[in-house]
Amino acid sequence: RAKDEGGGQHCTYEPSLHAHAEERRQLEFSMRRALERGEFALHYQPVVDAASEQVVSFEALLRWNSAEHGFVSPAKFIPLAEDTRLIVPIGEWVLRTACIEACNWPSHVKVAVNVSGEQLLDPYFAEVVVSALAQSGLAPHRLEIEVTESVFVRDGTAAQSTLERIMSLGCGVALDDFGTGYSSLGYLRKMRFSTIKVDRSFVQGAAVNNAESLAIVRAVVAMADSLEMSTTAEGVETEKELETIRRLGCKKVQGFFFGRPMAAKDALALFNQVAIRERGAA
Ligand code: C2E
Ligand code: MG
Ligand code: MG
Ligand code: MG
Repeated sequence: RAKDEGGGQHCTYEPSLHAHAEERRQLEFSMRRALERGEFALHYQPVVDAASEQVVSFEALLRWNSAEHGFVSPAKFIPLAEDTRLIVPIGEWVLRTACIEACNWPSHVKVAVNVSGEQLLDPYFAEVVVSALAQSGLAPHRLEIEVTESVFVRDGTAAQSTLERIMSLGCGVALDDFGTGYSSLGYLRKMRFSTIKVDRSFVQGAAVNNAESLAIVRAVVAMADSLEMSTTAEGVETEKELETIRRLGCKKVQGFFFGRPMAAKDALALFNQVAIRERGAA
């Protein structure tokens, strides 16, 4: 009986598996040309200080408008770029572009750049950071590299030494999506992260009074405070979520409530707006 069921499943499953592989193959084919065709762009999402609500940084988020496939979601193309190692050249473009664009912002505003394990374990990565800073003229303390817990799984020692080299330049390193991966306190003891980013799932849970989410956010904030690391609440969409995480002591907030990822020119216009308002008030 089990054999019959398995056989039946096999027949219906195979075509969709094949279609999936074929779609990936076509995406990969297009992605190999996307850089030279200029199909990538960075969008920037504001991160605000929880108390003052001033913009303290922007997170650079990669967007791909493919000639063949239209807009492709990062959830789809980033994993593929990682599997094919195309993330190494694409990530270098992201880093260089983000540093150049951040030079147009007020000098107290930082830029955060996401970096995959594949990039971090590439032997040239630290030199790419050095070069991106030198070419753009961006002050190193204005660059924050975001990594997830997963970068420590494959080769934790190599990841740590590359990140330490980057920190020695004066750059920050944030721990992204905290709590969703293979959380280990081991590397929190070894590494001076500038920021711990509390994943959106905990923010949502805390705001609806989920006891576990509340306890976890409270514990993460207390731990970050005593390790002298900052905290950012990710994915804050509502006033209620903002009030909750403020009460729990998160230092910074990011999410649709304050702004969606936007084109570079719109990010820049945000500062001009503030400047205009300040001029009007003066
Ligand atoms: P992430 O680094 O955790 O980025 C935050 C994601 O949450 C972004 O999705 C952002 O648009 C989304 N987000 C922000 N605020 C809210 C909110 O209030 N509600 C909801 N529902 N979502 C919110 P996005 O842009 O689709 O990026 C997804 C992931 O792709 C990123 O997660 C990051 O892991 C990866 N990624 C994006 N750009 C790059 C890149 O340049 N390099 C690498 N290696 N990875 C990248
Ligand atoms: Mg991120
Ligand atoms: Mg995140
Ligand atoms: Mg997240």
